[in-house]
Amino acid sequence: MPTNTSESCKQVRGVDDHAGPQLARDWRGPGAPSADFFPFLAAEYTVPSAEFPDEAPASCTTQLHIGMKDVSEGTSNYDLSSALQYGVGTGSRQLLGFVKEHVKLFHDPPYLDWDCILTTGNTSAMDTVMRIFGRKGVTMVIENHTYPTCFETGLPLGYAFFPAKMDDDGLVPDELDRALSSWDEEARGMRRPSMLYTIPTGQNPSGATPSAERRRQVYAVARKHDLYILEDDPYYVFQFDSAPAAASPTTEQYAQSLLPSYLRLDTDGRVFRMDSFAKTVSPGARVGWVTAARPVVERVMRVHEVSTQHPSGLSQVALYRLLHDEWGHAGWARWMRHICAGYRRRRDVMVGACEASLPREVVGWKAPSAGFFAETLSAHEVEQAIYDAAIRHQVLVVPGSWFLVDQGRSGMDTVCFRMTFAAPATNAIPDAVKALGHAIREVFRLG
Ligand code: PLP
Repeated sequence: MPTNTSESCKQVRGVDDHAGPQLARDWRGPGAPSADFFPFLAAEYTVPSAEFPDEAPASCTTQLHIGMKDVSEGTSNYDLSSALQYGVGTGSRQLLGFVKEHVKLFHDPPYLDWDCILTTGNTSAMDTVMRIFGRKGVTMVIENHTYPTCFETGLPLGYAFFPAKMDDDGLVPDELDRALSSWDEEARGMRRPSMLYTIPTGQNPSGATPSAERRRQVYAVARKHDLYILEDDPYYVFQFDSAPAAASPTTEQYAQSLLPSYLRLDTDGRVFRMDSFAKTVSPGARVGWVTAARPVVERVMRVHEVSTQHPSGLSQVALYRLLHDEWGHAGWARWMRHICAGYRRRRDVMVGACEASLPREVVGWKAPSAGFFAETLSAHEVEQAIYDAAIRHQVLVVPGSWFLVDQGRSGMDTVCFRMTFAAPATNAIPDAVKALGHAIREVFRLG
């Protein structure tokens, strides 16, 4: 991969050097139904109002009324009549506009020709980018344990994967540099890597979150070896240790308190950043966005036109009316801080339950500084036994080998499990961890 944006874009298959920034096609011509026959005439959502109290947003709500003709009646820029119709491959200009402002506030990419496009979430964004760059034999560097969607998507497309070493701070840049500097395609049985997939905040499954310094080092290695970076960051706002400069920070102060994303460090246009509303609003909404160099975004739009087209209009209009019309950037930032605090409390309950209930003789655990997941570590060759015993004790933990590209066939030096504190009710966490403790004791025949 090349070292500046325009170079990098020429490497993307089929990118036209003259491709302009705004090429979204209007699809209303072919096959558009008449709005006269849409059966949804209005939508009503009860949401936390812009002034919700931090501790209990549900106690202070307002009604969002979304009608057919709000635009012509001058009450909003986006209404049901356009949301229910076919849109364009970029997603609606209204929600996209809000998202771009958010990206500028939170990531401020340090090059000029970046752009955003709405997606149906990071799963779809991964599939799209891997199709765009996929040529048989492309090698992608992944974190040793990683979110399986990455390799499940890439393997049928002919990608090869190089699992890179991680420590508690994420990818180990020196090790990666060493591996890439001495890369021997024949010995490795793979081409020299040209891409890197990373989950930089609350890594799934390990929970690791690289420091700002570590991110700069990894970016420098990516530059040196010309790796295009896929930054999959749905947990970005769940940084439990971030400390804004003030108790009630401005949106800018809050944004500054978060770790820099790879996008913020990206002087070359080599980062393809995937964000999602899945964890911050709702996974069922199926809306996210990508930020990348404009010619790459243009390619994504072309893929959308023949695949997802755009996220659901119902989701887009609901998100826009909540985020833009009701909350604004300041309210959205307060919401993110609110949910981060809620998940931090659950993390603390889970860590307390681990201290109280897990047998230290045979397992360890890591309290994550971000994200939804904590990891327990245990001795080798007991993974299936612990998994089965845990299910008998009515608790589900996800085996670490499920996050390995070869499912552990090349040998694992430790067995680990992913536990989540995100979905269960806070008061269910201690009993679940206790049940896991019983399962582990049973497997290791501890008293
Ligand atoms: N990427 C990672 C690292 C995840 O952990 C998840 C969900 O668990 C996703 C992507 C899925 O994101 P989305 O719902 O936006 O497709």
